[in-house]
Amino acid sequence: MEKMNFVIVGYGGMGGYHARELIGENDYVQTYGVYDIKEERREQARKDGFQTYDTLNDVLADDDVEAILIATPNDSHLEIAIKSLRAGKHVVCEKPVTMSVAELDDILAVAETTQRQFMVHQNRRWDNDFLIVREWYQQYMLGEVFQIESRVHGANGIPGDWRHLKEYGGGMLLDWGVHLLDQLLFLVDQPVKRVYSDLSYVLGDEVDDGFTAWLTFGNGVKAHVEVGTSNFVKLPRWYVKGYSGTGQINDWDLSGKIIVPNETTERVAPTPIKAGQGLTKTMAPPSEEMTKELPILEVEADFPEFYRNFYEVVHQNATPVVKNNEVRQVLVLIDAIFESAMTGKIIEMN
Ligand code: NAD
Repeated sequence: MEKMNFVIVGYGGMGGYHARELIGENDYVQTYGVYDIKEERREQARKDGFQTYDTLNDVLADDDVEAILIATPNDSHLEIAIKSLRAGKHVVCEKPVTMSVAELDDILAVAETTQRQFMVHQNRRWDNDFLIVREWYQQYMLGEVFQIESRVHGANGIPGDWRHLKEYGGGMLLDWGVHLLDQLLFLVDQPVKRVYSDLSYVLGDEVDDGFTAWLTFGNGVKAHVEVGTSNFVKLPRWYVKGYSGTGQINDWDLSGKIIVPNETTERVAPTPIKAGQGLTKTMAPPSEEMTKELPILEVEADFPEFYRNFYEVVHQNATPVVKNNEVRQVLVLIDAIFESAMTGKIIEMN
């Protein structure tokens, strides 16, 4: 089998990671070359053992190049994608695919006309913490789930340079928000009916340094999504409530627990506890016999699936693991989150 030749466009943090690891260690695709707008990044690519191109046009004129990976700042994805598709290349694009639904529609129209494949790298669908929650949800391990809280909390502010600026598509909603929302839509697999949100600007940037969004899905499941970059104490990565259990995953280290009611025991009323200046039975821990703790599960992510799948989509007509209409739904949701934050209103989705 001949590997598919990829050129990486944008050799920064993520482009380098694709070149060396994701594409670099894959049986289906290979890093054929690198193009970056900055000479110093091209020089780094050569040091890392890759041939480089001086311009994007040189890449697109090379008939040995079958596909492009776009790993440039968010605002440039649109132009590079359209040029590459028109030049007959297949394209993988980093998230967020574009800055608006309309831009994505333009790309998809060109992909359709040129009959080239276009797929977005929504890699966090293969994160183990997410796969565990998906298993809880699909296997009813907490009973039917009615509420999901998904958070990422850091204390290092907005990273890098262009992520601070609106014109480059900066801000945390377009950065981590895209991952968390994509995971939730992929998990619940239902249309979002209602959205309310609040963006945070505590660091004084022109773009959001975090956000909170409350979503209600068509099946009644509610989700609370939160990204923060000024959180010196983190809240759990996942907190999931079902009608017969609660699950918590603390972090990417996969520590956490599931607590479910002990079906075999007769109901024992909790003993009231002194709480602050009062007494409470409602908030007292359940008596020990009433609940049991279960391990959170172990799952194995098949990460190389993404590029193997892309190869098979191009060469064997396989179904894409990340579908463009799913990616489009994430952008529709992001538009609604921006609108809700701006107007202070709940957005009803059609
Ligand atoms: P970065 O700033 O580290 O790298 C961007 C690179 O693109 C730089 O080297 C820059 O010189 C180059 N560049 C800028 N404009 C260009 C152009 N027009 N043509 C060619 N090169 C150009 O940024 P990054 O953190 O690597 O992010 C790049 C993309 O990857 C973003 O869209 C980001 O959202 C995405 N990303 C995805 C993940 C993920 O987990 N999927 C993680 C990090 C970044």
